[in-house]
Amino acid sequence: MLNVADWVIDLTERVGASMEVYRVLGGRNPFDPRRVTPIEEFRRIAREGWFEEKRRGDRGSVPEWVAGDRIIIANLQPDPVAREQWVASLDDAIAALREDRRTVAASTEFDVSLDSDRRMVTVEHRASGLKVEMTVDGVGGREWLKVDSRPHQRPTADRYRGLGIGRRVYLRAMAELEWKYRMPHRGVANAEALRLRDSLHRDYPYLIEAGSCPQCDKLKLDGGDKRELGGWAAASREDIEKTHSGAG
Ligand SMILES: [Zn+2]
Repeated sequence: MLNVADWVIDLTERVGASMEVYRVLGGRNPFDPRRVTPIEEFRRIAREGWFEEKRRGDRGSVPEWVAGDRIIIANLQPDPVAREQWVASLDDAIAALREDRRTVAASTEFDVSLDSDRRMVTVEHRASGLKVEMTVDGVGGREWLKVDSRPHQRPTADRYRGLGIGRRVYLRAMAELEWKYRMPHRGVANAEALRLRDSLHRDYPYLIEAGSCPQCDKLKLDGGDKRELGGWAAASREDIEKTHSGAG
């Protein structure tokens, strides 16, 4: 038998995820308890009966970000519960999802697996399943950190993105490797990871390279050879810290 409360939570989650797929949230977690997000828009259009309009093919007053969003529509169909029924449970569902994210984000337990030669580490935030794998790549003085940001991650882990957990997972992994290796900006594929690297770079400019950074651009210019990719990679710790100090 269909449990309406669970169904509404699941529906809300799926619609939230769809909204994220379309980057209408700029990759932000729609249920981030710290933010007012377009999930409020979802609440509004659900109340106003937009989904019925959509099924009739009438766009009506559809907000820009949701117009034509087939994934959202697909997630809403088939609809085994009458709208009046699920809209009434929507606030509870959103509150439950936010509470879940709050609780999970507050958890401080990590599972760590470190190779005996300390050149590879996997760190998983136990409650969320968010995980990172870092491997030392190269030899001698040319060693860099290679990062896999989703190594066999639990399928549900993505719902906890954007809550600052990834940052803690990265820092824990760097700490396990005794802060010995630098992380170049390579193979960073999605907006979420880009933001994370940029934010980490602000605090650890020498160890972690950003996707874009005006101070690092300056290093490149000052360093002479503009063809050399990444003034960051060639620059000394001293130069990087000098260039970045007080830059915020
Ligand atoms: Zn920089």
